[in-house]
Amino acid sequence: MSSPATIDADRSRAAHDVLRRVYGYHEFRGDQQPIIEHVCAGGDAIVLMPTGGGKSLCYQIPAIVRPGTGLVVSPLIALMHDQVEALEAWGVRAAYLNSTQSPDERARVEDQYRQGELDLLYVAPERLSQPGMREFLRQGSLSVIAIDEAHCVSQWGHDFRPDYLALGDLAEHFPGVPRMALTATATEHTHREMTERLNLASARHFVASFDRANIHYRIEPKVEVRRQLVSFIRSQSVDGPVSGIVYALSRNTVMQTAEYLQQQGIAALPYHAGLDAAVRAEHQSRFLREEGLVIVATIAFGMGIDKPDVRFVAHIDLPKSVEGYYQETGRAGRDGEPSVAWMVYGLGDVVQQRRFIQQGGGDRAIQLRQNSHLDAMLALCETVSCRRQNLLAYFGESTSACGNCDTCATPPEVWDGLIPAQKLLSTIVRLRRERNQGFGASHLIDILRGADTERIRKFQHTELATYGIGNDLNDAQWRSVVRQMLAQGLMLTEGDYGTLTLSHKSAEVLAGSTAVHLRHDVVQRASQSRKQAVAKRSASAGAPLNDADRDLFEALRTWRAATAREQSVPAYIVFADVTLRALAERRPRSLDELKGITGIGAKKLEAYGEDVLSEIATFEESVPAPADD
Ligand code: ADP
Ligand code: ZN
Repeated sequence: MSSPATIDADRSRAAHDVLRRVYGYHEFRGDQQPIIEHVCAGGDAIVLMPTGGGKSLCYQIPAIVRPGTGLVVSPLIALMHDQVEALEAWGVRAAYLNSTQSPDERARVEDQYRQGELDLLYVAPERLSQPGMREFLRQGSLSVIAIDEAHCVSQWGHDFRPDYLALGDLAEHFPGVPRMALTATATEHTHREMTERLNLASARHFVASFDRANIHYRIEPKVEVRRQLVSFIRSQSVDGPVSGIVYALSRNTVMQTAEYLQQQGIAALPYHAGLDAAVRAEHQSRFLREEGLVIVATIAFGMGIDKPDVRFVAHIDLPKSVEGYYQETGRAGRDGEPSVAWMVYGLGDVVQQRRFIQQGGGDRAIQLRQNSHLDAMLALCETVSCRRQNLLAYFGESTSACGNCDTCATPPEVWDGLIPAQKLLSTIVRLRRERNQGFGASHLIDILRGADTERIRKFQHTELATYGIGNDLNDAQWRSVVRQMLAQGLMLTEGDYGTLTLSHKSAEVLAGSTAVHLRHDVVQRASQSRKQAVAKRSASAGAPLNDADRDLFEALRTWRAATAREQSVPAYIVFADVTLRALAERRPRSLDELKGITGIGAKKLEAYGEDVLSEIATFEESVPAPADD
């Protein structure tokens, strides 16, 4: 008889063996090892891990190691298909049951399950509550039950799926089968609901840091949004076009921006809920399958996009909340490779968002909540300290300055904005008291700068005591002052035209009894050269490839694209970018050397090994090795 300790050691060895042999990975990430060992030993687990943290392996490996089939409950049919496709490429026996299949296909999968020929079986939650499904599952044997996107059980979250509520009784139906709930979205509230409703009171909780260290955060003032966007995308594409998502608020902006990018020679497709379903599906599928495509989308795009090699997420409009922003930016860099979250925002965004809230028709409590979401978002935009610190603090995590965000790279200078703030507020007060008038930012700035416009003449604003007292600042500087004062709540906007009015904090500013700290806006020059952009990117991105390696990387990418097309699978299913990079750097010459490369497991070695070696050999013949000196 083996002692429990040797059984544990055996399980641990088996898990490691699968990691290497099947996936070609060499080390577990984060909490993967303890989670996998716990579940392999039969324990229940709740896993909170950020996007890209490596949740899939946490249930896939126990499913492979333990006898029987792992059941994966997953809410998105498209995602099931992608996951099964990826698993098959690793040589794992996986299948799904859903409504897109023909009765024949379904019957075949059911048969495979009964015969114990599947390591993993994916089903949608609504299928599990269908009559007969649980009886069917009893005809085979389950190794583990994994509930993915488990936050969908939370009634207060925005992804609530009623079918998830029926998953709580799986414990009674399949006693002795370890159960897991996994999610990347978890406030304390959701966490508690998952535990209760999924009957996981005795589960062990694994809560990872939500930091996404490979994502570089950058927020810039909005000046000329389209030009800034093109310049940003080009700076990310110096090694060839990369996949990225551009988020905008309105359908109009989405369409216009996609068209503009196309005119600029950037391959871009639009996506929003108003497009024909077929067009939407095609654009999504092209984005997943092709390389170097940019998708311009409203937030309708994203849930269920687990493309690992999205290199950037750009926001050209201000998101409504930090949660939304973090979820959207989290779609970058799931593969752990350096990626960028870039955003531009300006005065117009603040005014627009406040107006949306006022006109949204919600009651006072709803408006208060929306405003506080917006305030948190604005605080992130205007912070003079580390963006990541600010973001993680929002989720209750503390961390030191990250060194991988714009404010860490170039700490913004702070200046004393009390005098300009007083000039602006007193203009608002005078207009209101002396003339019962209210105006938006542009006109107020014109007054302060002593501009000679038709409106100024019409309203005789040259006669105001504050006319022209602010011409020490230019227009952009004034807009920055207004934006930051609004962000800090030192004044408010109201009505359709964004009329500026006093807030309860304005009096203190006017009285000079509070300090007004403003940051100098740092605008990236659109004329930034390619060289600088590379330097910038690599500073945030870890070691870049040298020129020769980069050429080989490109050659391998071309090979990968052709192979993926031939087999009609997404490129990342052939090999991830990380793997191509390792190949370009280490240039293996034999199948044995290939085994040492991350992401090359047994099946892929067999499928692609010879081809890759020959690509590398051909490259080396055509490019003379650099002389040693
Ligand atoms: P999540 O579901 O948490 O968003 P995934 O499970 O999709 O994350 O994993 C993200 C990426 O990281 C995938 O490409 C996956 O193959 C890879 N990955 C996961 N674990 C490891 C590991 N231990 N070593 C290397 N790569 C890993
Ligand atoms: Zn930082």
